[in-house]
Amino acid sequence: MTLVSGLKWLEHAHKNNYAIGAFSVDHIDSIEAVIQTAEQLESPVMIQTGQATLNHTPMNVLAAAAREAARNAKIPVVLHLDHGNGFAQAIQAIRCGYTSLMFDGSNMDIEDNIRITKSIKEAASAVGIPLEAELGKVGTRGKNEIRQLTDPDEAVRFARETQVDSLAVALGNIHAAYGEQVHIDLDHLKLIHNRIGLPIVLHGGTGVPHDDVRKAISLGISKVNIATEWRRATIDYLRQHLAEPQHNDFFAIIQGVRQTIRDIVKEKIELFGSAGKA
Ligand SMILES: [Zn+2]
Repeated sequence: MTLVSGLKWLEHAHKNNYAIGAFSVDHIDSIEAVIQTAEQLESPVMIQTGQATLNHTPMNVLAAAAREAARNAKIPVVLHLDHGNGFAQAIQAIRCGYTSLMFDGSNMDIEDNIRITKSIKEAASAVGIPLEAELGKVGTRGKNEIRQLTDPDEAVRFARETQVDSLAVALGNIHAAYGEQVHIDLDHLKLIHNRIGLPIVLHGGTGVPHDDVRKAISLGISKVNIATEWRRATIDYLRQHLAEPQHNDFFAIIQGVRQTIRDIVKEKIELFGSAGKA
């Protein structure tokens, strides 16, 4: 297959009460590990690149790797821009072949967030791909930021004026919560989802207990982002294995990294209910 538009799969997940996993990929090993695992489980999958990854490797290089890996796959693969930083980057992503976009204007005032989201939505619609936006302040563990739940009235206005395809919301979730349990406000999720009727996206999926994730999916979460969990698991794996001098086979170590990623992707795909949905 080639990379497919996220539009159809976001809607499919929303209608069928599962969530599509959006896995942050940082290199070819993670791109292949995610796609191969999704293939084994016959699950649609999103691979995404955020700003830290794009500061590390150019967008066109990652997009080319993703496109070629998707070409070999028997399942639909969506390439998503995570936390896009503005109009120019959205256009760059479209040129590179991304099939789903996010613009994150959650740190702006709502008027600016609406204005820029609208302009990117026009571009995304023109090429048949969906746009995710963010409202409320999710925040990142370890950073001194204001966190604020998404206001339901603002969400209604935002969805109406921008016509976005999905919305990332703040429910008490937080980015980069590794090794801790983060509880999200499920009543708040239910309220927002009932009022806007759009697929809702959960960022900071790493720290949310499995039961809460399952409930959240039944209440309108249609995409869950996973990044921190395997970055940290990769570091843990390397720390364990590199300390021993007999581990000097480079590819055996990289295979171990891939397996670490595969195990997490498998667990998530099963948790999100997307296995067998491709
Ligand atoms: Zn995020």
